[in-house]
Amino acid sequence: MPIGAGTRVLTLLGDPVDHSLSPRFQNAAIEAAGVDAVYVALRCDGERVVELARALAHAGGGGNVTLPHKARAAAALEVRSRDVERTGVCNTFWLENGRVHGDNTDVEGFGAAARSLIGSPAGARVLVLGAGGAARAAVLALLDARADGIHVLNRTPGRARALVEALDARGRRAAALEEAARVGREGYDLVVNATSLGLRADDPLPLALDRPVRVGAVLDLTYRAGSAEPGASTAWVRAARARGLPARDGTEMLLHQGAASFRRWFSGLEPDVDRMRRALLAGVGEGRG
Ligand code: NAP
Repeated sequence: MPIGAGTRVLTLLGDPVDHSLSPRFQNAAIEAAGVDAVYVALRCDGERVVELARALAHAGGGGNVTLPHKARAAAALEVRSRDVERTGVCNTFWLENGRVHGDNTDVEGFGAAARSLIGSPAGARVLVLGAGGAARAAVLALLDARADGIHVLNRTPGRARALVEALDARGRRAAALEEAARVGREGYDLVVNATSLGLRADDPLPLALDRPVRVGAVLDLTYRAGSAEPGASTAWVRAARARGLPARDGTEMLLHQGAASFRRWFSGLEPDVDRMRRALLAGVGEGRG
């Protein structure tokens, strides 16, 4: 649909945003749905993100928020979803009944990516590496899906403890591990990399896979492959596949958080997820992302 006077403007707010793949796959979804909207990336500083998100929403638009502004953006909201309340961050905003609403669709995005790899995580034993925002979204989605025996291991152990305590998950179904040597001998159905390791080509693997511990599948939340080769994925995903393990990188979570955002902006309209995936993977193949 050509851009006209009635076109809704959806934006990605963050800094930096110039390598983001969201405009690629969101515009592919907009085109497939035939809705009158456009998605653009706007670099903005943290001082401006609250006023910008409010102004854009009240102008009939909406959008996403990415690093480093996800926590600040929560202050723009008049109506917060359960996942904004639980994580303290907002990655999606829109206007509904005259009020600015927000959600954190990383939780839903992680849940969909995990299901695409192992089916239902109910009853699964899971090791989550990292204790930042992505790890928090992952642990919440796993608790919601009734995973059983979630271990959180982080370079700074205090942050893993704080994450488990903040989610009130201690002793319930999640525990923080103090060091890699404590990794459960019973093994894991799924191991998740929610650290920043993997963003750069020379990063060490987040966890060696030659340990005497059973690993059922590997989900790496990083998606910048460090290689422009389509399908090359991250070094950790390649190492897992070389061992015969099912493995996915973060493109699946990125895709599904974006699909969830699309549903929020367009009152539940279902996006063409396959078309979004093709646009996303084409962008990764060109070395973007
Ligand atoms: P964050 O809040 O800054 O957390 C970073 C985490 O990485 C912390 O646990 C940190 O440990 C750990 N870390 C950083 N450098 C490390 C190193 N050299 N060795 C070991 N651990 C290290 O970041 P985030 O928002 O959670 O994002 C984490 C990753 O997930 C990023 O790669 C991001 O791109 C990805 N992500 C993907 C999606 C998606 O849709 N696929 C969505 C969100 C995030 P300390 O606590 O010790 O510093």
